[in-house]
Amino acid sequence: MIKNRFSQYIVGLVVVSNFFIFTHHYNNLAATTAEQTAELHTTTSHSSKVKKFLSNHKIATAITVGALAISGGLVVKAFTDTEERIPTTIKPGTTLPIVYTPENNIHAHKLLSTVLGFIAKPFLRLLHPFDGEKFEKAYNQLRKNLGLTAENFVAPETCVTDEQLIAAGAHTPEYLQSLHDVATLKRIVEVPLDLIPFMSDEKLQTVLVKPQRCATSGTLRAAQIALDSNGPGWAVNLGGGFHHASKDHGEGFCIINDLGYTINVLQQERPNLRVLIVDLDAHRGNGHELFFKDNPRVAAFDMYNGLAFPGDRDHSTQYIRYNFPLIGTTNDDTYLTTLRDNLPQALQEFKPGLILYNAGTDPLTGDPLGGMNVSAAGLVQRDAFVFDQAEQYKVPIAMVTSGGYTTKSADVIAASLTNIIKRKGLGAT
Ligand SMILES: [Zn+2]
Repeated sequence: MIKNRFSQYIVGLVVVSNFFIFTHHYNNLAATTAEQTAELHTTTSHSSKVKKFLSNHKIATAITVGALAISGGLVVKAFTDTEERIPTTIKPGTTLPIVYTPENNIHAHKLLSTVLGFIAKPFLRLLHPFDGEKFEKAYNQLRKNLGLTAENFVAPETCVTDEQLIAAGAHTPEYLQSLHDVATLKRIVEVPLDLIPFMSDEKLQTVLVKPQRCATSGTLRAAQIALDSNGPGWAVNLGGGFHHASKDHGEGFCIINDLGYTINVLQQERPNLRVLIVDLDAHRGNGHELFFKDNPRVAAFDMYNGLAFPGDRDHSTQYIRYNFPLIGTTNDDTYLTTLRDNLPQALQEFKPGLILYNAGTDPLTGDPLGGMNVSAAGLVQRDAFVFDQAEQYKVPIAMVTSGGYTTKSADVIAASLTNIIKRKGLGAT
């Protein structure tokens, strides 16, 4: 079975092109008589020149043999490529506290039919800079950096269902039902989905909604690993951080609020658990701020670009306990100083039993949606500082990767996690 979708597309295209090349070659071979060849030599029209070119047996044979060799190699590769399965159970000494499933990725080109999707893929980022394959790229880069295999990661067992979200009080049944309406999803993901041909509810649910359900289960799994008293006290979900979604509303590409769901589930099991959401994504986490406005055991430490989305249309800024809007040029200095000067105090004062760290990489210089000016090295230092603080105050920490809209975002995530894993040690659980 061909497991690699990309290989399927390539194999399909090469096989079809081979068929046309061979057919053309064969027809030319059969039809080219001595008279036709003589005629081709004497004519000067453009179409005749093309015909003459194509009837050159040597070139056509070389093209066909070359294409057959490439497609043969790709077929062998596609059939022998096996996608490594990430285990759902933790093996002590082998598993790192890094949660990931390929299902977190949003392959937007799959909203179209196979061929159209393949053709459109390079152009989709023009519609929205969100790179739904960022998590996969970070996962692959991290594996490369540290020589890891799928066995070193852990996958969530399931992807959260409507029933689970409702039971946890995370989203209203009406809101979840509205996700079957293309107009609602169009507004949330800011892409004109209704203009895309061959669209169906099934496709929208599979391609757009399901990845956020899977990442939501991943965030819960990461928090449970961090809280496990026999565990390492830290974990990362390669995905999640949909901090703009509230209980009855989604926006800013956030459909399911994984942070809200995770905290609700954890507090059902541990009523006294105090959670500090440290939200360092370039955008303010209005979703969780509305989510927990009446919950004194949850507080937000939010440092963000005060001029960027979402503004304060929903009047949620008032619910931030530790509020740090950054306005104007935010370089490494301003950014890291604000964090270093204020996070320790928040930890001392609020005394959380868990830090949920929303570590968006969109403060990165050049990010089209972040509008800030922090370097890749600055973001690596930021993450290291937050993890160090968690260790210093003995608070378990679960990190999610949230926003980041440049082609370098995945590399920054991988570089930061490489740094954290090296400091914490391999085989940490
Ligand atoms: Zn963001």
